[in-house]
Amino acid sequence: MTAPRVRFAPSPTGYLHVGGARTALFNWFLARKTGGTFVLRIEDTDRERSTDAHTRVILEGLTWLGVTWDEGPFFQGAFGDRHRADAERLLAAGAAYRCFCTREELDAQRAAAERAGGGFRYDGRCRHLAQADIQSRLGANVPFTIRLVVPDTELAWDDAVHGRISFQGRDLDDFVILRSDGTAIYNLAVVSDDIAMRITHVIRGDDHVSNTPKQIAIYRALGAAEPVFAHVPMILGTDGKKLSKRHGATAVGDYQDLGILPAAMRNFLALLGWSPGGDREIMPEAELIAAFSLEGIQSKPAVFDTVKLEWMNGQYLSAADAADLVPAVERQLAVLGVSPEGRDLRPLIDAVKLRSRTLLQLAEQVAVRLAGPRGEPDERAAALRRKLGPDFARNLVIVADALRAVPAEQWTADILLERVRTAAEAAGLKLGDAMQPVRVALTGSTVSEPVNELLATVGPEASLRRIEAAAGT
Ligand code: GLU
Repeated sequence: MTAPRVRFAPSPTGYLHVGGARTALFNWFLARKTGGTFVLRIEDTDRERSTDAHTRVILEGLTWLGVTWDEGPFFQGAFGDRHRADAERLLAAGAAYRCFCTREELDAQRAAAERAGGGFRYDGRCRHLAQADIQSRLGANVPFTIRLVVPDTELAWDDAVHGRISFQGRDLDDFVILRSDGTAIYNLAVVSDDIAMRITHVIRGDDHVSNTPKQIAIYRALGAAEPVFAHVPMILGTDGKKLSKRHGATAVGDYQDLGILPAAMRNFLALLGWSPGGDREIMPEAELIAAFSLEGIQSKPAVFDTVKLEWMNGQYLSAADAADLVPAVERQLAVLGVSPEGRDLRPLIDAVKLRSRTLLQLAEQVAVRLAGPRGEPDERAAALRRKLGPDFARNLVIVADALRAVPAEQWTADILLERVRTAAEAAGLKLGDAMQPVRVALTGSTVSEPVNELLATVGPEASLRRIEAAAGT
C-alpha cells in the first residue's frame, strides 16, 4: 500500500477553532505515523468571508501547535480552471447537465413544495431538455448552472470512525456543482482538489457527513477512486452543548494567550475523541504518533473540559526544563511591568513551576518573587492575619531578627530552616506560626514552595524588606 496522503482544508472565514485544530492533528498524526504526506489546503472560495488575516491566524495556530505541512499551503481559489474543467468533463459525459432554471423559478418550486408539506428537492426538469432547446438558450446567452445527475443507487461508505454509513441517491436531488458564474460549489471543489492532490484519507469533522454521499457521487461520476473517509465526532462543552464561545475560549490562539503550552494543547486535543486504549493521559508527541490510529477515534462526541486542559498543562509545566520557559516568562513579565533585573530566571521558574497550571500563573509567581506581593493579600492571607492578630507582626519580628543574623553567603534554604526553627523554639512558637506570616509577607498568599526555599529564592535584602513592611516595623 502506498503511504497515505491526507489534508487539512480549513476555510479562512474565521480563527482556528479547537475543533479544526484537532482535525488537523489527527491528519498529521496519521501522516507522521505512516510516513505519509500532510497537505495544507486553504479553502478560500467564499470570497466574501475569506480573509488573509484569517489565513495568517490559521497558519500561525498550526505552527504553534507543531502541526507541520509537507505540501502547500495551496489556495483552492487558484484551482478554478480545474474545477470548471471537471464540471465540463461531467457535462460532456452526460453525468451532469445544464440547468437554466432561474432563481425565481427555483424559489417558486421551493414554495410550492413547502405548501404541499414536503421538503424541496429539485425535480430534475432540465435533465431532459431537448438538444435544440439547450442550443437556443445557449445562443441567447441564458445563464445556467451545472447539476450532477445523481444516480438512483446506494451511496455508502465504510467510515473509519462510524462504520457503514449509507444514503440513497433518490433521497438527494441533482445538486448544483458549478454556479452560473463558472465557480465551483463546495462539494465539487473539494472532490476535484482531493483527486488532483491524490488524497487517500479524508479525515474531517462529522458535520460533513451529509456532504459525503454527494462527494461520492462526484468521485464515481469522474471515475476516480474514493478515499477512506473518517468523520471525527463533534466537540461539546461540559454542559453537553456544542462547543461555542459561550463556553469560553474556542480559538487556538486564545489558549496560547492564556499560557497553555503547545505540547499540552496537542496532548489534550489528541485525547478529545481519540483514545490510545487504557488510561494513559500524559503522552508526549512521539507516543501520540506511535499510538495513533483511525480505529482509536471514538464515534461519540468529545467533551472539552478546560479544567482538565489546565491540569494537563500543569503536568507539562512541572516537567518542563526551566530554560525552555524563560522566553515566555520574560514576555509575560514585560506585560506585568516587572523587570528581571538581570537575574537568572531559571531557579525562579523551577521554584514555582510545580504550583502553576498556566504560563500566566507561573509568570505571575515569578513576578511576585522578584518584585513582591502584587495588590492586596489574598483572602486566605487576610484570614491568617485576622486569626493571629498582634501575633502576626510579633512573629514576623522574631523571624526577622533571626534572619538578620544570617550572613549573606549562608543564605541557603537549609541554613534558613535551621535558624528559623531555632528562633521559633526559643520563643515558644509553632514552626507554622512563624513560617506562615513570612510566606504572606513575601508573596501575599498562603500557598507557595516551602518558606525556607522561598526565602532563599527571594534573597536576603528583599526578604527582610518585605517582612519588615508586613510587620509594620
Ligand atoms: N473547508 C471545509 C471546512 O472548513 C473542510 C472541507 C473538508 O475537510 O472536506 O469545514
